[in-house]
Amino acid sequence: MQRTLAIIKPDGVGRKLIGEVIKRLEANDMHIVAMKMLCMSKDQAREFYAVHRGKPFYEGLTEFISSGPIVAMVLEGENVIERYRALMGATDYRKAAEGTIRREFATDIQKNIVHGSDSPKSAAFEIGYFFNRFEFIN
Ligand code: UDP
Ligand code: MG
Repeated sequence: MQRTLAIIKPDGVGRKLIGEVIKRLEANDMHIVAMKMLCMSKDQAREFYAVHRGKPFYEGLTEFISSGPIVAMVLEGENVIERYRALMGATDYRKAAEGTIRREFATDIQKNIVHGSDSPKSAAFEIGYFFNRFEFIN
């Protein structure tokens, strides 16, 4: 069993896609073991996305992710890091496969509806960033 951090970004929440995203998680055997809705401050966004510090999109990305409410979830399942990445689709929605969340709903390379950890190491950091050990259902 593996865990990953999933986020519905402010564009996904604003466009009322929470249910749509969660429906897909549930349909694909990705078990939600922790979940919360919150707003990130700009400083929290900078820390969460520290891996992208210095890149041309860092400023815009941290501004965007702190611009409104997000839903953060921990998903559990077999090979869930890779499976959830596949469900999301490529970062650039124009390159994402048919049927993926980003291909269907993203409007922009930045406003791409969802986030997902990309490795066990990033999953451990990102899960710990949002959740403490009392906030899991098991
Ligand atoms: N992003 C962007 N411009 C880019 C690349 C990324 O605005 O050229 C944003 C986009 O919202 C993306 C996030 O930065 O989801 C993190 O980038 P990463 O390369 O980690 O993509 P992801 O892991 O989300 O697919
Ligand atoms: Mg990433």
